[in-house]
Amino acid sequence: MKKRTDFLVLGSGIAGLTFALKASKFGKVTVVTKANIDDTNTRYAQGGIAAVFSEPDNFEKHIHDTLVAGAGCCDEAVVRMVVSEAPDRIKDLIDLGVSFDKRDDGTYDLAREGGHSEYRILHHKDRTGEAIQNTLMKRVKKNPNIEIFEHHFAIELLTQHHLGEVVKRNYPDIKCFGAYVADLINQRVITILSRVTIVATGGIGNVYLTTTNPEIATGDGIAMVYRAKGTIENMEFVQFHPTSLYDPNARPSFLITEALRGFGASLKNMSGEKFMKRYDSRGSLAPRDIVARAIDNEMKIWGDDHVWLDCTHLDPVALKDHFPNVYEHCLARGIDITKDLIPVVPAAHYSCGGIKVDMDGQSNIDRLYALGEASSTGLHGANRLASNSLIEAAVYAHRAAMHTGKRLKELTFEEPIPDWDYKGTTHLEEMVLITQSLKEVQMIMSNYVGIVRSDLRLERAMVRLEILYEETESLYKRSLISKKICEVRNLINIGYIIIKLAKKRHESIGLHYSIDHPKKNIF
Ligand SMILES: Cc1cc2nc3c(=O)[nH]c(=O)nc-3n(C[C@H](O)[C@H](O)[C@H](O)COP(=O)(O)OP(=O)(O)OC[C@H]3O[C@@H](n4cnc5c(N)ncnc54)[C@H](O)[C@@H]3O)c2cc1C
Repeated sequence: MKKRTDFLVLGSGIAGLTFALKASKFGKVTVVTKANIDDTNTRYAQGGIAAVFSEPDNFEKHIHDTLVAGAGCCDEAVVRMVVSEAPDRIKDLIDLGVSFDKRDDGTYDLAREGGHSEYRILHHKDRTGEAIQNTLMKRVKKNPNIEIFEHHFAIELLTQHHLGEVVKRNYPDIKCFGAYVADLINQRVITILSRVTIVATGGIGNVYLTTTNPEIATGDGIAMVYRAKGTIENMEFVQFHPTSLYDPNARPSFLITEALRGFGASLKNMSGEKFMKRYDSRGSLAPRDIVARAIDNEMKIWGDDHVWLDCTHLDPVALKDHFPNVYEHCLARGIDITKDLIPVVPAAHYSCGGIKVDMDGQSNIDRLYALGEASSTGLHGANRLASNSLIEAAVYAHRAAMHTGKRLKELTFEEPIPDWDYKGTTHLEEMVLITQSLKEVQMIMSNYVGIVRSDLRLERAMVRLEILYEETESLYKRSLISKKICEVRNLINIGYIIIKLAKKRHESIGLHYSIDHPKKNIF
């Protein structure tokens, strides 16, 4: 079955839906999303969205903080562009109906997070992502130029490969003509032909055992672009959030926003020592990578399963008012954050790398754009500054919509693309084979390619992943398409890319730390 659309958008988080709304002014938009429309990382964002809004803050300070966090690996032109366009994109969100918290005097209640030198985080309580997601969804659902396909899974991007050409990584002019998409309800694969394709499929957290990301974050878009011979970069820079609630049975791990540390909460080891000053003069407000490594180190030195986050000295009324989500979640687990210490551990949180794009969000594959967490714009470099990702998605969605809107008329549908070939895919393989492979990938990545790495660990990880790769590819070829097998296949691709890029980097920088190449002794 074939379908045609002007803009094919894969993903329904802030990146996909913002793009859809803006592109709908130029043509028909089809949003494909693999679960419910609100199953996104966006919905989970607590802390807020960064932008310069009032003095004494200014663009230069936000640019400086972003560049410092990125450890010299950011693209400064991109940083300047995103920071200076951020206030306008926040205004767009406000115009759509997102309400950010204000003080009694009517000014925005700006928060401060680790690595930020000023108060510049707009937020809606500690449910900023939910407020943004709900507003965008409401708008998209009412828009007659946008159709939404929930429970539709993008399997593969369409390129000249599907016309029988041999497309290698150095192929001069790869083009994207749409995607094969599995309709998970009716169990069929649709060929969606598009003039422009947008990958806004989010992050990769589920390649690790412990993650703050929901189940949907399996790196599908990045893996698809990699297989289509697109350029992927910076995947070795995986951000581990320093403080997720320690609960071995929970998936995703519940994030304890670092705005709490901005609000005065402090990290303590099991002996009650405020250990962060031993690692960084900024103490609990040091950037995430430093805090995560410090916690990892404390846990390893003392053999503990977690450290503590202490809010008990803070005003309980203000605490409950600012952090109702954290308060209620912890209380439901028997922890009253106004009286009890919170047990916390680091968890895989954000992928700084992804599909390499230019300032309009365009990848090296023509007609293919990537936005949000799936992309690598150059903003984050080796480490993302907190709350810079929602704004990056909003800025790039706008730019990509304007850019693609202008060139839409010159693009045509590639009619000769054949429909999905079901040959040789006759039965669904035993689920146990797939779930076991998933566990193995997550174990390999967590044990060997986590916060602290070494040459030996990376080598071991690669050897083990190669076995899984061979097994899964053979399973994939002979099995009926299922969401689970596609996700495991994608996660193996993601693991492979992370390891490959980590092995190439013979230094410790930003989020990549190797005991064999400790260029800078951070401890
Ligand atoms: C707990 C948590 C807290 C966070 N807090 C903040 C914060 O305070 N500030 C900040 O700036 N950032 C924060 N982040 C990061 C931020 O939320 C994400 O980077 C951002 O929301 C990503 O948006 P996105 O649109 O790129 O992807 P997502 O919102 O993750 O959306 C991805 C979409 O793609 C769909 N999809 C994936 N694969 C496929 C496929 N194969 N086929 C079809 N659809 C597919 C998914 O179903 C989903 O709809 C947080 C993240 C987490 C997990």
